[in-house]
Amino acid sequence: MERFDAAVIGGGLLGCFAARELSRRKLDIALLEAREDVCTGISRANTAVVYPGYDHEPGTLKAEMTVRANAAFDRLCKELDVPFSRCGSLMLSFGPRADAVLRNKLQNGEANGVPGLRLLDAERVYAMEPGLAPGLRHALFSPTAGTVNPWQLGIAACENAVHNGVQLRLNTKVEALHRDAEGYLLETDRGSIRTRAVINCAGLAAHWVQELLFPPSVRIVPTAGDYLVLDKNSVGKPTHILEYEPEEKVKGLTVVPTVEGSLLLGPFERDNTLDYATTEGGLFWVREQASRLLPGLDLDGTIRSFAAVRPNPEQMDGRSIHSFCIEHPAERFWSLIGIKTPGLTCARELGQYVAAALARELHAEENKAFDPIRRAIPKAHVLSFDERRKLAAAEADYGEIICCCEDVTRAEVLEAIRRGACTVDGVKRRVGTGMGCCQGARCEQKIAALLSEALRMPESAVTKDGKGTERIYNGAC
Ligand SMILES: Cc1cc2nc3c(=O)[nH]c(=O)nc-3n(C[C@H](O)[C@H](O)[C@H](O)COP(=O)(O)OP(=O)(O)OC[C@H]3O[C@@H](n4cnc5c(N)ncnc54)[C@H](O)[C@@H]3O)c2cc1C
Repeated sequence: MERFDAAVIGGGLLGCFAARELSRRKLDIALLEAREDVCTGISRANTAVVYPGYDHEPGTLKAEMTVRANAAFDRLCKELDVPFSRCGSLMLSFGPRADAVLRNKLQNGEANGVPGLRLLDAERVYAMEPGLAPGLRHALFSPTAGTVNPWQLGIAACENAVHNGVQLRLNTKVEALHRDAEGYLLETDRGSIRTRAVINCAGLAAHWVQELLFPPSVRIVPTAGDYLVLDKNSVGKPTHILEYEPEEKVKGLTVVPTVEGSLLLGPFERDNTLDYATTEGGLFWVREQASRLLPGLDLDGTIRSFAAVRPNPEQMDGRSIHSFCIEHPAERFWSLIGIKTPGLTCARELGQYVAAALARELHAEENKAFDPIRRAIPKAHVLSFDERRKLAAAEADYGEIICCCEDVTRAEVLEAIRRGACTVDGVKRRVGTGMGCCQGARCEQKIAALLSEALRMPESAVTKDGKGTERIYNGAC
């Protein structure tokens, strides 16, 4: 039976960062993920905003952590070699109710120490975003808001954790938990694991994982959300993140110019459902809101729709939990349950929080060899023509383009597979294949063939959701 000092359950953003932060200590750590790859759950589908921290009540852990996390984001992304765009955000008001909301957020933000927040008049806003609809009254400008690709960040954190000694176990679902004097026994669908400590980051299943051993204390009420993605060449794209605050007391549209250059629009929220299928009504609402807010936006440039599911934590009596739900039901057992927005922004800080708490309980020493640096897969398309020609001459795989929309070479795809991708989707999440206007129509078969050959698996296993794959990646990077 394998033995560890600490086991992290769930390889989403939170689990990957918790494992990375734990690896700053001298501990034997396992990261257990039920699926064939990391970051396939909530961390794969969300709004991708790095929030500045004006949304939360002053004095709360959420407010304090968000502001701190936001300030540290450039450095984090530099360490992990992940693109981050600090494009700033504009929260838009077209009426008196929204004006009051903006003033309230400004007050909150100032109390929380959000830098650079300003309430702008319409003239100033139109100068920044000329495509906005007429009738605007004010906007709350937050220069520190930004956007990052969530799965790229999570995969980078995971690669760095593995580089620092974390043992990643994929296709390993924790099904039962036991506790004794030694610590915890985890029964997985691949056998049992002994560990002195547990961090439970199982996303939508985190409450269920905790209940394998402890009485129910939190319940999750899911909300699904429908999104649209517009091609990077679409006309009329804004350059800032836009958050529309409507006059009616309903959630407005968020518009995000992503680091890849596409435009993300959404979500239309649907209560009480775990359904990942988008709805016609939801997508219609997103389109309608977008064309009202940005009349010149070319919605014909839509290349994708998707749905995401938000885990809303509640007390057992139905009262909502607004703070981060960090549970500590027993010594050396920590759970992050129902961490929704701003979980992406605070993923590293939440990981730090639980890792530090656990390290104290385990009396763990510092790992002086910890290396925070991870390098991304080199991208041929950012090179000059000459640099590219030289690279292709030295390594022929850099001369063969696999994804023509995003200009991704065979060498990059093979490196993604070497680093752990075992499905077409896993390659996409590492090197951006299939993210362009054809959405993989021209490259999917080529990538499936490369995966099938490299992993010696049938193409049917690598093109679907990876359920057929048996790879237990343990860090080739
Ligand atoms: C619609 C939406 C929009 C959002 N927008 C933003 C935003 O703009 N900015 C922001 O800061 N935050 C945002 N968030 C929050 C952020 O996306 C999440 O907090 C973040 O992705 C963390 O996810 P996670 O690691 O908890 O869950 P996941 O990514 O779902 O990871 C949990 C993992 O646990 C695994 N697992 C489950 N059960 C088991 C088991 N028994 N054994 C082993 N593994 C298991 C799952 O397979 C999964 O991979 C948003 C969230 C949603 C839903």
